[in-house]
Amino acid sequence: MLTRRQAGLGTAAIGLLPGLAAAQTAPAAPTGTGFHRFKVGSFTVTVVNDGFARRGIEGLVLNAPPDAVRAVLAESFLPTDHYIGPYNVTFVDTGRQLVMIDAGTGGQLTPTAGRLGANMAAAGLDPARVGLIIITHCHQDHIHGLTTAEGAAVFPNAEVAVCETEHAWWADASNETRSPQGQRVNFANVARRFAPYQGRIRRYAPEAEIAPGFRAIAAHGHSPGHTVVQVADGNDQMLMLADITHRPELFARRPDYVSLFDFDGAAAAASRRRILDRAAADRVRVTGYHFPFPSNGFITREGEGFRFIPADWNA
Ligand SMILES: [Zn+2]
Repeated sequence: MLTRRQAGLGTAAIGLLPGLAAAQTAPAAPTGTGFHRFKVGSFTVTVVNDGFARRGIEGLVLNAPPDAVRAVLAESFLPTDHYIGPYNVTFVDTGRQLVMIDAGTGGQLTPTAGRLGANMAAAGLDPARVGLIIITHCHQDHIHGLTTAEGAAVFPNAEVAVCETEHAWWADASNETRSPQGQRVNFANVARRFAPYQGRIRRYAPEAEIAPGFRAIAAHGHSPGHTVVQVADGNDQMLMLADITHRPELFARRPDYVSLFDFDGAAAAASRRRILDRAAADRVRVTGYHFPFPSNGFITREGEGFRFIPADWNA
């Protein structure tokens, strides 16, 4: 049911991605393997691809001209006539529990995404075995996958953990006029996606231990309570960077770029620099929701910003 695609959703339903609908093309048949596995201590991490969204370059970065954006993309050998935003969900099997960080698009956001269920099956990850879903923030592409289009819970045995700051913002309709126009869709969507999980929603404090081995790191700005998750076991650790950057080839290299997805551009840029600086200084492994699959690598300082370096991998 995760792979169900809802055709005919208007641009309002994908309000975070203005310009997307016009740029959509039919999804190509998936090729290759949509999951990737590695270890953090004794934990088994599996990054599972959910597909991608395609949009134009115009309007993507609010504080730089499109030609400057195109030049940065070209430096990383990315297309300059359109922008691809990948979706990758990070799973962590601790041996005690299967933990999932964010929930994918549920096949209800754009026709080019919605492969999470099929790729989970390929990876041997059963939705019924997910015991905890850590939500980094409540933008549509991160929580749509909590429910089917009909509103049923996709993960029947999961507790859902969300930052109290994040949840409080979107749960209070009086904040609507203080939110960017493109993000107002989140108020109704948060209520809808969390509804079937009532009674098993936990609100964690901004720097709390969410579960053994999982710590929240406040990184507010991209959304009111946007959170990075530190995953640690023994002497090994990893940072799930969530949306601290959208594609790192653009927003890590130019950390002061404000994307149209950022709730508070100045705060998002400050969090971006602080977290990327920490990842680079600690030489710690990272994954990111919109990083290029398999979204497994490291951050290094370079020039005026940072660069994502994919990890070595051997079968
Ligand atoms: Zn996102």
